[in-house]
Amino acid sequence: MIVKEVTSNNTINENDIVLTGDRPTGCLHLGHYIGSLQNRVILQNTVNDKKKCFVFIADVQGLSDNFATPEKVKKNVVEVCKDYLSVGLDPAKSTIFIQSLIPELFELTVYYMNLITVARLERCPTVKAELQTKSFATSVPSGFLNYPVSQAADITAFKSTAIPVGEDQKPVLEISNEIVNRFNNTYNTNVLKECKPILSDVPRLVGIDGLAKASKSLGNAIMLCDDSETLKQKIFSMYTDPNHINVSDPGKVEGNVVFTYLDAFYENKEEIEDLKAQYRKGGLGDVYLKNLLYKILDEKLTPIREKRLLLKEDYIYSVLIEGSKEAREVAKQTLNEVREAIGIVYK
Ligand code: ATP
Ligand code: MG
Repeated sequence: MIVKEVTSNNTINENDIVLTGDRPTGCLHLGHYIGSLQNRVILQNTVNDKKKCFVFIADVQGLSDNFATPEKVKKNVVEVCKDYLSVGLDPAKSTIFIQSLIPELFELTVYYMNLITVARLERCPTVKAELQTKSFATSVPSGFLNYPVSQAADITAFKSTAIPVGEDQKPVLEISNEIVNRFNNTYNTNVLKECKPILSDVPRLVGIDGLAKASKSLGNAIMLCDDSETLKQKIFSMYTDPNHINVSDPGKVEGNVVFTYLDAFYENKEEIEDLKAQYRKGGLGDVYLKNLLYKILDEKLTPIREKRLLLKEDYIYSVLIEGSKEAREVAKQTLNEVREAIGIVYK
């Protein structure tokens, strides 16, 4: 077994199959970049086999809390795929597909729904936290509550074992593994495989407002496609230390979003430590730090923006349709094995 270290603390072996996805609820942001996209590109280049590397756009999952605005979801399928290609995902090395073009996933979901209780889904910390930010009140759509089950179908359909995700998805992957074990035990089989999360060194990037997580739906994120001016405005609106009023005042580094982003995106760790010391002591202004962060992020985002501008919608659709055809063949095979394991094959 060849074991390769792909990122710090994460190894994969030659049998691993990589899969991950995003909801097309908006363009992708720096949280996606640092939490998952960067790792996907590393994994894609390490595995270097598109039969073992799957990236998908979860449009059906996106509808679970956007069912009344399907046009928003459809539009963002193209935007998310543009983000993928502009950060370096390569359709020659990764199978990139659209969830709704693989109907087998939804049949798997129905079988798996029998293997997990409503109470277990309600207890999932990710679902709980997300419900708090939505305006469902007491009328939670069952489709939303069920999304971890649909995610288990996405993962298992491709026998995926290595999932590059942000920290918020860890509890959801635990549910997927519970379903896998319940399925294999109930039907006395080993058809389904457990998966492991591949986390980055920044598994959860905070929002520019200081909230726990930068998120498309919360509108508190720097998007990969933000132009230079928007980037600057967002950085200058970042939450810092409200008590750091004059440049000479001592300031707080912990919980200061500018420092959190510098920690995440600036390679010069020594300089960051110097800046933190100065800030704590007093004598370093927010404007200086925000300008520094702007320079660093603008440099990082400029090539991504430029690549994005070259991508035409027709090409994006051709990538997605081709990838979906290839992905569907794999999912069909797994669905046949699942039906056989349950014993509902009619000939
Ligand atoms: P939404 O608000 O619609 O749920 P989102 O911003 O949470 O959107 P998702 O499409 O749900 O994005 O997540 C896609 C992937 O990106 C997941 O693996 C998730 O863990 C990761 N991710 C999302 N936000 C962050 C973040 N702030 N930091 C690190 N990883 C993140
Ligand atoms: Mg999310």
